[in-house]
Amino acid sequence: MQITLQTLTPLWTGGIDQTCDRLHETGLLGSLRWWYEALVRGLGGYACNPTEQSCIYDPAKPNNGLCLGCQTFGATGWARRFRLFVSDKTSPQSPPGTVSPTGNRLKRNKQDRPSWYFRPGRGGETVLHILPLHQEFDPMIIVGLLKLIERHAGLGAKTQLGYGQIKIQNVSFSPNSFVEHIANLAHAQSEKNKGLPNLQEMFFAQVQTSDRGITATLNLRYDVRAKFRTAFSNNRALRHWICGTVSGDREASKVFFSQMVDGVMRVWGWIPDVPSENFPGISRDQVLVKIKEAIEAYGEVVSWREFNSERDTFGKESDGKAFLCSLLEDK
Ligand SMILES: [Zn+2]
Repeated sequence: MQITLQTLTPLWTGGIDQTCDRLHETGLLGSLRWWYEALVRGLGGYACNPTEQSCIYDPAKPNNGLCLGCQTFGATGWARRFRLFVSDKTSPQSPPGTVSPTGNRLKRNKQDRPSWYFRPGRGGETVLHILPLHQEFDPMIIVGLLKLIERHAGLGAKTQLGYGQIKIQNVSFSPNSFVEHIANLAHAQSEKNKGLPNLQEMFFAQVQTSDRGITATLNLRYDVRAKFRTAFSNNRALRHWICGTVSGDREASKVFFSQMVDGVMRVWGWIPDVPSENFPGISRDQVLVKIKEAIEAYGEVVSWREFNSERDTFGKESDGKAFLCSLLEDK
C-alpha cells in the first residue's frame, strides 16, 4: 500500500538538535498511534496510555496482555503489525521565524504578548509505504487515520502551531468499512478509559477570520487564551489545563489551531470531563461554550463538529460510529 501526501503547511516530525532534517518515521507513527487510540476509545475499545506504562506482551493473558493500541503499534516484546517506509521528497520549508500575535483586538502591551519561534519544517510531497506484517492488519486503518487528519487535524508534531496539514492524493477509501473495522476491534476488547484522548470528547471547527497567514493562527490562539483570563473568574489553573502553559511544556494545550489554508483555519481540541476535585462547579459543557464564544468573537465558524452535541452544525449525532463516519465524509 502506498499513500502519497502533499503538505499544505510544514510537517514536523522531530529530529536531533530541534531541527527537522528529514521526515522521521517515528514522528509519523506517534501521531498515527495517537489518533488510532483516540478512535478506538471513541468507539468503546480499550487503549492504554503508552506515554505512562504501555502493555507488556504476556501470552498467558487474554489478548496477550495487549490493548488495541499496543496490538497494532507495538509494545514491549511485541512488534508493530506493519512497517512504515517513507520515500521522502520533501525539502526544508522556511519558517517565518519569531512571530507574535498582533494584539490589535485585545490591546495588551507588546511585552505581555507571547511570541513563538517557527523552525523550518518539511514541505512538498512524500510517499508512505505501508507493509503489513500480520494477516489481521488491514493497511486501510492507516489510510483512514490519515483521512481524518487530512480533514480535521494535523499530522506529526507542533500541530498546536499549525504544522502538519496534509492533502492525500488518489487513494480509494471507504469510510464505512474503515469505521466498521475499528468498531469490531473495539467491540472485541471494550473498556471504559477515562482521562485519555477520546474522539467522543473532541471538537473540530473550521473558522474564517480576517487575519492572514500565521497571524490568524496566533491571534485566535491568543484570543481564546484571553477569554479564559476573564471567564470562570480568571481561574489560572483552568486556563493552563485547557490552553497549556506558554513557557515550557509542563502542560500541553488541549486546543489546537491550524495555519490558514485557502482562507480557512481549523481549531480542534480534546476537552475531557473537567476534574471536579480541581475545578468544582465547572462543567465540560461550560468550557466548550467559552471556547466557541471566544472563536466566534473574532472569526466565523463555518462548521463545528462535536459528538452528541447540539452545537454540531451537521446535527446532533449520538452514535459513535455514525459520528466518525460523518467526520470522514463531511464537506
Ligand atoms: Zn497498550
